[in-house]
Amino acid sequence: MENNMKQFVIDVVKEASELALAVQKEMVTPTTVEKADKSPVTVCDLAIQALISRRLAEQFPNDALVGEESNDVFAGEDGQKLLGQVTGFVQRFEPSETPSSVASWIERGRDEGDENRYWVLDPVDGTKGFLRRNQYAIALGLTIDKQPVLGALGCPCWQEGTVYFASQGEGAYSIPLHGTDLTPIHVSDVSDASLARVLRSVEKGHTNVGQIDYIVEKLNIKTDPVSIDSQVKYGVLASGGAEILLRLISPKMPNYKEKIWDQCAGVVVLQEAGGRVTDLDGKPLDFTHGRTLAENRGVCATNGKIHSAVLDAIAAVGA
Ligand code: AMP
Ligand code: MG
Repeated sequence: MENNMKQFVIDVVKEASELALAVQKEMVTPTTVEKADKSPVTVCDLAIQALISRRLAEQFPNDALVGEESNDVFAGEDGQKLLGQVTGFVQRFEPSETPSSVASWIERGRDEGDENRYWVLDPVDGTKGFLRRNQYAIALGLTIDKQPVLGALGCPCWQEGTVYFASQGEGAYSIPLHGTDLTPIHVSDVSDASLARVLRSVEKGHTNVGQIDYIVEKLNIKTDPVSIDSQVKYGVLASGGAEILLRLISPKMPNYKEKIWDQCAGVVVLQEAGGRVTDLDGKPLDFTHGRTLAENRGVCATNGKIHSAVLDAIAAVGA
């Protein structure tokens, strides 16, 4: 991977992490609206998508962007007020931006992901964690020929602020948010599944907590699962802080399909750290179906050494 691309993803998620911290510092409750699918979007998600979209267009003008957010939320009087606030945060980093340019940068992320090469962005992964002042991540990945090949996770509230970064074939690294040293990271060596530490979502509606407990029992694991919002989980798994990450199917949303921006950057980081990721049926995650992993069911990510034992337990409990 070219050095300028690697430096770009690191720099841009760091800049976006600073934007997120500024919103958290200045707004007790960041302005939030509900999207059509009932999930929340904040001034921060929108400002970060605008800023990263602009940076991408400047550096790699021919590359498409698949981003989570759209500018539908700016309709009406309240929407225009929100756009004003979003523009204010973007201008801290790019003073020449205007409300209309900001809206069009956000809209540039509506790409359907049908090109050979496109960027995948979740500007604030774990928006609910962000609002709870808990964990969240700025997740930017690049897919070439529909395979995730480069990714960075800006995790402003993990430890003192951490960036996880990986490029295909070149390993995975952690970088302090306020530093420059790259430290290689690797998954843990645990090969006895009963000693594994399990990660899951905080939001019970994003998974199936009861079935996770059955899987834990099946594997004879004695420690309770740890809940963390967002792809910070991938960073923890990739750096040896846990062995299993499960995203089961929520009984409330049996037809939910994973969004590529919730997986792309985290998958590169995990695989480059020596881990393995499949869906719940053991199939590779298939990024060839546009904005969702339409042909996969949930996600099972591990340190690699215990992957088949975990898949067996998933099958045994019927998850
Ligand atoms: P996490 O913090 O790991 O729960 O992941 C947060 C992401 O879960 C959000 O960005 C949503 O895109 C996604 N999400 C929303 N609803 C569901 C669902 N029913 N099942 C799985 N993921 C979901
Ligand atoms: Mg997300």
